[in-house]
Amino acid sequence: MPGTLYIVATPIGNLADMTDRARQILGQVAVVAAEDTRHTGQLLTSFGLSAPLIALHEHNEADRADALVARLVAGEDVALVSDAGTPLVSDPGYRLVAAAAAAGVRVVPVPGACAAIAALSVAGLPTDRFAFEGFLPPKTAARRVRLQALVAEPRTLVFYESPHRLKETLADLVHVFGGSRRAVVARELTKLHETVYRETLAALAQSAEQDANMLRGECVLVIEGAPASVDAGAGAQVDDALRRLAAYAPLGVVADVLADLTGLRRNALYDRALQWRRQADDEST
Ligand code: SAM
Repeated sequence: MPGTLYIVATPIGNLADMTDRARQILGQVAVVAAEDTRHTGQLLTSFGLSAPLIALHEHNEADRADALVARLVAGEDVALVSDAGTPLVSDPGYRLVAAAAAAGVRVVPVPGACAAIAALSVAGLPTDRFAFEGFLPPKTAARRVRLQALVAEPRTLVFYESPHRLKETLADLVHVFGGSRRAVVARELTKLHETVYRETLAALAQSAEQDANMLRGECVLVIEGAPASVDAGAGAQVDDALRRLAAYAPLGVVADVLADLTGLRRNALYDRALQWRRQADDEST
């Protein structure tokens, strides 16, 4: 009988979020594959556990996956953990899970903390449909290209971001999406300094300039999706009207007139016009 591969979530800050089941599984498997064996060793010790550990990170996953699948096929149980939260969510493990499943090994989730879901659950933005986008590219030009591809996305957007890049990313979000969307920065979730900032994108970008605390610790960004009136379908017609009218009048007037004619939200139209103009400016430079 092949063994079982357990995908085990660990806390994202607050150790009390470790589930009983996670503890039990980590205490019984033959080996725990961990992103950072020292970090996971300390976590296990704090729960009075001591399992054999093997490193599995983005640089060795391809090789290690084969060796671990061989052990699973031979009948050993293996657990996969990452440094924090749910493995495979912006963390290693995809290759291992795919290889294990292809080899006919049973893969079992042991769910628990996940920063993206924790942030979404307190953001106060629609959760019926959302898109997890992981980390944006670190460089501004590539980041703006990625954001441009998401500008008409109506689902709530969830991003992971490093505190060192938060200010620049918020500025780029305002540049590409406009400033009026509701947005949330959820930082240090489950930890002592947990703070949830709920503002418009423009206000968040301004807070990031003034509030050094906002740029400390880990954070998740949750952004309201594109207004229904500027979704992919309506976008082409609205853009066409905006383009033509903007040649004759200031954007504020254009937004007023189009809001009057179409019943669409004035702020959304203004933001869309601004995006379109900036896009045109970017393309011409
Ligand atoms: N697999 C993890 C999970 O399930 O959330 C995410 C791993 S990813 C490498 C790390 C990113 O998750 C951080 O840069 C940050 O964006 C987010 N994150 C992790 N812990 C967090 C926390 N306590 N509060 C806010 N964001 C957190």
